[in-house]
Amino acid sequence: MGLFGDGEKCVFCGKEQGFLGSVFGINLAGGEYLCGDCRDKCAAGDIDFSKLTVDDVRGMMQAAKDNRMKGQTFQVTRRISTGRYRDEKLIEVDERHGWFRKAREENGLVYNLDDIFNFTMNVEMSVLESGQHFDLSTYEYPELPKCPDGCRVTIGKLIIWFAKNELGLDKLEFDLIPAFSPDEGDVRGGYACAHEFFEMMRDYRNARR
Ligand SMILES: [Zn+2]
Repeated sequence: MGLFGDGEKCVFCGKEQGFLGSVFGINLAGGEYLCGDCRDKCAAGDIDFSKLTVDDVRGMMQAAKDNRMKGQTFQVTRRISTGRYRDEKLIEVDERHGWFRKAREENGLVYNLDDIFNFTMNVEMSVLESGQHFDLSTYEYPELPKCPDGCRVTIGKLIIWFAKNELGLDKLEFDLIPAFSPDEGDVRGGYACAHEFFEMMRDYRNARR
């Protein structure tokens, strides 16, 4: 037992847990150690590895590998951007294959449009005077969340929920507006981006009907 961890070895690659490993590594349900590199071979998301077995993780690694292989044939037919000038790429869509992917994160993973169960724009606002926060979300399209008088939007996310997903994810989140002091132009760009995604989904679903 040393200063930099207890020398546990990764159950997949055998790499020893170091100081960084103790930060980025994780223990599985059976107590086995999973290093950060091997964890990254699974799809990134809100996955609680402490509830998973070695076989679960092996399955997830394979699913991510298969998914990335499939993603090599991705052809962008539509790009959805946010930002005040609508120039910050957020989502890329391959309507021919029925896929989409995160434009900012080149992790090679693709997601099926047909697996989407719902999508929402979630907005957090602060009251200008008291600084009080509250959440607001909507399932109502085309009704996007409105900012009440005397409030300003501080956070805006597009959340895409999956009915099923081969990588084991139940949702994806996208930041629509900058995290720090967004101004009105930023917020407007974020709304327009969410709107464009909603429109794309409507078109896609109509085309498949
Ligand atoms: Zn490893």
